[in-house]
Amino acid sequence: MNTARIPAAASTWQRLVRLVLTDDFRQRRRIVMVLMTAVLYMVCLALLTYGVVFGIFAGQGVIVLGILCALTATVFYALVRSGLNLRFSEPSLAFPQAMVAQTLVATAYAVSGPAHAANLIFLAMVMFFGMFDMRLRNVRILMFYTIGLIGAVMAWKSHVDPLVYPWVLELIYFATATTALPAISSLAVQLTKMRNRLRSQKQELEAALAHIRQVATHDELTKLANRRHMIALLGEHITRHARGGPGFSVALADIDHFKNVNDTYGHRVGDEALVAFAAQARAHLRNTDIIARWGGEEFLLLLPEAPPPGDPNVGIERLRAALAVAEASAQAPHLRIAFSTGITRYIDGEQIDDMIERADRALYAAKAGGRNRTALL
Ligand code: GH3
Ligand code: MG
Ligand code: MG
Repeated sequence: MNTARIPAAASTWQRLVRLVLTDDFRQRRRIVMVLMTAVLYMVCLALLTYGVVFGIFAGQGVIVLGILCALTATVFYALVRSGLNLRFSEPSLAFPQAMVAQTLVATAYAVSGPAHAANLIFLAMVMFFGMFDMRLRNVRILMFYTIGLIGAVMAWKSHVDPLVYPWVLELIYFATATTALPAISSLAVQLTKMRNRLRSQKQELEAALAHIRQVATHDELTKLANRRHMIALLGEHITRHARGGPGFSVALADIDHFKNVNDTYGHRVGDEALVAFAAQARAHLRNTDIIARWGGEEFLLLLPEAPPPGDPNVGIERLRAALAVAEASAQAPHLRIAFSTGITRYIDGEQIDDMIERADRALYAAKAGGRNRTALL
């Protein structure tokens, strides 16, 4: 799908360009290719007309060729301009366009009398143009078709018009074509391989970048945001708030007597309990709240305010209730974890550290007050 769109046109010229080329960037590129081919046809026809005017060859064949060229250009323009080309597996229509173009060049070869050898360069040109957008299989089909067709035209013309198309010369031209065209198609093979390699490298790089981004911003064990990422997010919220955005609170949550958990059940169960805490926090806090592993068994929650103003502790109490019944580790089915929280609201203009320090003091108060509770400062 293509989402790249050209902005609304202003001038009459822009509107005209839009009408002819559409406002879809990718389709535009294809239409430009079709129009460029049409210009090329016109140049060829002009040369042929020159030949007719100066009596080098007859006009009848040139007229037929002119009609065929006009028809071809119109059909392909209509296909791409209407968007019908998008239904094909190769929306550039490079392959059918190249096949038709080679047929027209072969026709020109037949009607251009003594000037016919000049058409050989056009056969090569069509191959060059086509190879950028074509599948390998189609490049090969195009090559064999071109060689077969031009060979047939040469044989036929040297038979019916041996004076203008002497077989000795035609043989040289045929040898030239059979050397040049496979060479060009082997270039196309290399080009396609290079394109595929670049594409897969790009995909690998994108995946690696996404992985690095995830590792740099998230905690390995709980998959929550890490401290660095949380600081960045706090900075963003502060900036947004300074520009008139909503306020927010932070809550520092510390698991109670966690050392006992490790000492009693082992470090592995301790790890599982941390993961369980993260899962329960994700499930029971609002989805606009951000949870980060601040360090060890300490978590920092960013609780944005949404109208109507509510109590930032509501979600935390929901989490507390959930943890009171949730299994913290499959290896220790009776283990339940509790935590203490210090909540504070961000004060306009203050530094992140000052806010965290206040939350820490509130947490200390919650611990001192008997744990498994929230204190506000
Ligand atoms: P309090 O109620 O006062 O918070 O007591 P506490 O035992 O939770 O606090 P303390 O700071 O004494 O101990 C925290 C423990 O958390 C000590 C440390 O081994 C453990 N811990 C920190 N990070 C991890 C971790 O990643 N995995 C495990 N299993 N334990 C961890
Ligand atoms: Mg602690
Ligand atoms: Mg603790």
